[in-house]
Amino acid sequence: MDNVKAEVHVVQNFINGTFVAPTSKEYMESVNPSTGGVLAKIPSSTKDDVDQAVKFARKAFTEWSETSPQFRSKVMLQIADMIEANAEELAQLESADQGKPVSLARRVDIPRAIYNFRFFATCILHEVDNVTQLQGPSRAMNYVERMPVGVAGLISPWNLPLYLLTWKICPAIAFGNTCVAKPSEMTSLTAWKLAQFLKQSELPPGVVNLVFGFGTSAGEAIVAHPDIPIISFTGSTAIGQHISAVSAPFCKKLSLELGGKNAAIIFDDADIENCLATTVRSSFANQGEVCLCTSRIFVQRKIYSSFVERFVRMVREIKVGDPKDPKTTMGALISQQHKDKVMSYIQLAREDDGKIECGEGVDKLNLPAHCQNGFFVLPTVVTGLTTESRCLQDEIFGPVTCVVPFDNEAEGIAFANDARYGLCATLWTQDVTRAHRVSRKLKVGTVWINCWLVRDLHMPFGGMKMSGVGRESAEDSRDFFTEKKTVCLKY
Ligand code: NAD
Repeated sequence: MDNVKAEVHVVQNFINGTFVAPTSKEYMESVNPSTGGVLAKIPSSTKDDVDQAVKFARKAFTEWSETSPQFRSKVMLQIADMIEANAEELAQLESADQGKPVSLARRVDIPRAIYNFRFFATCILHEVDNVTQLQGPSRAMNYVERMPVGVAGLISPWNLPLYLLTWKICPAIAFGNTCVAKPSEMTSLTAWKLAQFLKQSELPPGVVNLVFGFGTSAGEAIVAHPDIPIISFTGSTAIGQHISAVSAPFCKKLSLELGGKNAAIIFDDADIENCLATTVRSSFANQGEVCLCTSRIFVQRKIYSSFVERFVRMVREIKVGDPKDPKTTMGALISQQHKDKVMSYIQLAREDDGKIECGEGVDKLNLPAHCQNGFFVLPTVVTGLTTESRCLQDEIFGPVTCVVPFDNEAEGIAFANDARYGLCATLWTQDVTRAHRVSRKLKVGTVWINCWLVRDLHMPFGGMKMSGVGRESAEDSRDFFTEKKTVCLKY
């Protein structure tokens, strides 16, 4: 029985602490991926809206950049508390907007958004900088003055909407910047809800401005705005490359968190129970729509057949269906267009003589009536492909993972590094020496040994190769969102 309320949310831009309609007066529809029904009307913002937002963000910067860390921290902790007090509503909204199970949004997305605020709110209370002394005839002391950069342009994707948007807003404002942020046009609802909390908090108007709409209009206007000197972008490599090109004439500071094609390397001495359970999760969490998801699984030949058999059995236990159903462990993909893309790769796998071990074309999807128009794809495991196959080279960003055997350590490493991307890898072995040796050789930003997605926000996060430019963490985000100025006093 469908108990989804037919309410259509009408989202407004949040500029200078006020909710305003887009200057175009035009709205676009955003759908619930699990039903295909219209969920929200989103402002179709243009350059005019971005110009307004930047004007107020610049004005707010004058005062906000001079506030004490204690004040900024207090305001951010207020906002964290408001998110926490409304966590259930936010989890429901995130699920309806994105397609993920409510249980996942409850367990991961919303708690992480709260933590993003608390983490940066408290980081800024404990910063200490060094002073150096030059001895001899040029006796001088040096210190580093950190200055917030200005109005930050923040652009985020649809897969972890509030989680990733707050991962940008929090460091930006904690370090004294103001911002103009744009979530994905496909998932704007929790950002809009966040704006309501910002309004109720002591955050001064204009510090955080949210402009909703398409990347090609609102996003492009943010990137090309001459008064935005710093852009933090998370999304696809193609758009990241475009943003690099548009920002280049302005010499903007850029942080680009882009796509991934992440490998698991599983040696024959792995703790197989932990490895299997974690690799099922790392491949299919959030419908495989996490930049960190495993989509290439390399298994040492001695255990390859038994791994595939047990892995496929476990993948078949994933319950795909209504994201609101507590038994559901995998929801719907973000859009029909994205579903078509994912299905085209499964077709490609067949054309490349791959074997579909389970999932699309092999198993049956049973959906309740109200989900029949949703964008569901069964978790699909492919074997029999070579590492050159496009299924092992391109980012599919869905519930498709490929398993390939390897013979020895050198081959495992070579297979894992044979990708344009370099975001993360998981490594499964009980041999600690090998774990360190292999980690060192992997061309990725994060290696998880015998685990996946265990995050300490102090640790640098980001990608090598086509997975991005820059790192994010307490220290890295501080470096990114501040300009360091060396001050030298001769005495
Ligand atoms: P996308 O690149 O299509 O869009 C991301 C954001 O950019 C959206 O807000 C979009 O509106 C905006 N945008 C689009 N065109 C723009 C333009 N010309 N100028 C400015 N902004 C523009 O990505 P997506 O489909 O929303 O997200 C999926 C991608 O994000 C995947 O490639 C995934 O790997 C990546 N991702 C990376 C990370 C990471 O941390 N490395 C995390 C999550 C997602």
